[in-house]
Amino acid sequence: MNKKPLIGLTLQQLREVVASVGLRPFAAKQMASWLYVKRATTIDMMTDLPKAARERLNEEYCIGLVAPKDAAISVDGTVKYLFEGVGGRDIEAVYIPDGERATLCVSSQAGCKMNCQFCMTGRQGFNGNLTTAAIINQVLSIPQSQSLTNIVFMGMGEPLDNLDAVLDAISILTEPWGMAWSPKRITVSSIGKLKELRTLLDITKVHIAISLHNPFATERAKIMPVERAYPIRDVIELLGKYDFSHQRRLSFEYIMWRNVNDSPKYSEALVKLIGRLDCRFNLIRFHVIPGSDLQPSTTAVMERFRDSLNQHGITATIRASRGEDIMAACGMLAGKANPQQDAKES
Ligand code: SF4
Repeated sequence: MNKKPLIGLTLQQLREVVASVGLRPFAAKQMASWLYVKRATTIDMMTDLPKAARERLNEEYCIGLVAPKDAAISVDGTVKYLFEGVGGRDIEAVYIPDGERATLCVSSQAGCKMNCQFCMTGRQGFNGNLTTAAIINQVLSIPQSQSLTNIVFMGMGEPLDNLDAVLDAISILTEPWGMAWSPKRITVSSIGKLKELRTLLDITKVHIAISLHNPFATERAKIMPVERAYPIRDVIELLGKYDFSHQRRLSFEYIMWRNVNDSPKYSEALVKLIGRLDCRFNLIRFHVIPGSDLQPSTTAVMERFRDSLNQHGITATIRASRGEDIMAACGMLAGKANPQQDAKES
């Protein structure tokens, strides 16, 4: 029998587990501490639980930590980890050290349904949602786990397309019974599924990053088909109802393509679109992917674009590119050993 993983369970779910082996509800907090704080690797390490209960737990459950299958290390120190995924597709998480910060970019799905034309993940279809255990395993099982300072849900998949698992993962990361991180250390990046975005905004305090990439609806729809279902105007209208002036941060992701979305016409349209929204822009260098004609904007053009936004009072920065040599940079995750070869064959 396949044993069920304990990591990924919320306090409420752990209460059901402890009840099933005859323990009182407070034992759920003890288990959560062993799983998420003391990082137990076996149920037998939970020595404040009675031996008989541990034996019963061992019959049905395991801790559920699964080490990465592989790792690739970039010249810039970024490390891309490959994990067992679902539906035949592995998934990736990217560890990004940067001075005092150590960020892990986690995946929420194996593949993605959103089909963004600039994204390796999106171009290779959808194989399934990750469980909460599979999301939390990325955080707990890498060698640098204890030194992480930030988590970004920017890996493979659209987090709001797997909302329940992502919300449970955020609970485990932020609740006092779990890892007790400040929500300010967590960012969820999304294309902006409206109903799910509202839920995320209402019940968490994590930072929000929205993939924008083009202010003109018809042009955006060509590279992000999701514009037809969730127009960026509606996303911005929803965001306008929330406070991003302190505590919680809102940023827009803007990948820059040569002669596509990098002229003054676009920066001016962005300024109009954003209006008075409290936000910042991350301008992202495009990493050429197989099978796409899109090309990156030059550094000079990106700097002019950034300056133009800044002059209109919008904080804009050019995001440093990390892990390009190991296919770990933005939009390059594929969950395959050799995604370049894979793309040529398709
Ligand atoms: S950019 Fe994000 S939402 Fe779009 S296809 Fe890639 S993973 Fe999915």
